Amino acid sequence: MPDNPILIAGAGIGGLTLALALARSGQSSITVEQRTRVEEVGAGIQLSPNASRLLIGVGLGQALAKAAAEPERLTIYSGKSGKILAGMPLGETMRARYGAPYLTIHRADLQTILLDAVRGSENARLAFGRKVSAIHTNNAREVSIECESATTRETVTGKALVGADGLWSNVAGLIGDTSKPEFLRHIAWRGLVSRNDWPESLPANETGLWLGRGAHLVHYPIKGGAMINVVAVTSDPENEPGWSRQGDPAKIAARFSTWHADVQNAVGAVGHWTVWSLFDRPPRRRWSDNRVTLLGDAAHPVLPFLAQGGALAIEDASVLASEIIAHAEYPIRALSSYEHRRKPRSAKIQAAARQNGDIYHMGWPLSVARDLAMSRMNVAERYAWVYGWRADPTP
Ligand SMILES: Cc1cc2nc3c(=O)[nH]c(=O)nc-3n(C[C@H](O)[C@H](O)[C@H](O)COP(=O)(O)OP(=O)(O)OC[C@H]3O[C@@H](n4cnc5c(N)ncnc54)[C@H](O)[C@@H]3O)c2cc1C
Repeated sequence: MPDNPILIAGAGIGGLTLALALARSGQSSITVEQRTRVEEVGAGIQLSPNASRLLIGVGLGQALAKAAAEPERLTIYSGKSGKILAGMPLGETMRARYGAPYLTIHRADLQTILLDAVRGSENARLAFGRKVSAIHTNNAREVSIECESATTRETVTGKALVGADGLWSNVAGLIGDTSKPEFLRHIAWRGLVSRNDWPESLPANETGLWLGRGAHLVHYPIKGGAMINVVAVTSDPENEPGWSRQGDPAKIAARFSTWHADVQNAVGAVGHWTVWSLFDRPPRRRWSDNRVTLLGDAAHPVLPFLAQGGALAIEDASVLASEIIAHAEYPIRALSSYEHRRKPRSAKIQAAARQNGDIYHMGWPLSVARDLAMSRMNVAERYAWVYGWRADPTP
């Protein structure tokens, strides 16, 4: 077992990026994941330059280039008329401006790339099929966690614990924040289409964003362009909160039946839909307690109206790793400095995502003003603060 490791609860995007960033700097870690294997449902994720730069920085550039796609542009359409409202170039323009690409990738591919890199690191241990169920701050020098599997109970000790355990964070509860996320009565539908089955009238190598009353739809290429990922978010006041489940194609087809023909065709091309309930929570008052802190969705879930939840988890991991390395003998100071550095940005991104949700789903007549404002908007400048983020040097 690694000597005086950092303990990480959760092998999602955030937990694995942290394990990798620590390993690259010579700090050992043990990541405990409740699932027996990491399996992502068929869906994509957009990796904007603020995130891709960090993943490339920990040595994943080649693997990402092989598995991801790089759309040429973002185009924002009126869902009803199909009129182009706004857009911005991606591809080379993003690389030139931010020094890193805007990538789109299948979640399973990203997860596999991260996992392979962590597995290949001598000082990063992974323990699957174990749930972190208790925390003991034994003394001033270490923290212990109890990890339960179906048959065993094991105690693991390290110098700090990071709860990268997602929206329903158990670690947050164990350090005293038992507040629950709020169901927003919005449903995300996710599905994939092979490039060959993609409607001819719709550009395949772009991120397309279609806006309409109470819903929006996004599509972008993944797997080097061989597949198109489709995500639709609909307001659904009738629905109850729930975990991922199968979506009824007839229901989503009916929901978009009055939209532009291209949207109807894109919806019709998806064979299998998975449906997720969307949850939000206001910023947590504190993330850290003694030798324990939170990261990614556990600290600050982000609604998918800005495509930044995973990116923020990657940013968190990078900043936290640098703090842990800089204050190797003082982990409590490292965690509190990390929290201090990350809170303002994550709260700002959470708020911007919420605001986008309101704007995207406007109905008539507000949508008229929205469409006019969008047609005059410089999208690239509007989001420069999101994509151009770089960590301040560790104090
Ligand atoms: C529809 C939709 C589209 C999105 N699109 C984008 C996008 O394009 N770009 C983007 O950047 N973000 C996007 N996001 C957000 C992104 O998916 C999340 O923000 C990101 O996955 C959070 O990563 P995480 O590592 O913090 O948490 P998770 O991915 O939730 O990982 C947490 C892990 O912890 C494990 N765990 C939980 N409890 C325990 C325990 N007690 N013990 C051990 N393990 C435990 C879980 O099994 C899980 O593996 C989207 C989200 C949605 C819903």
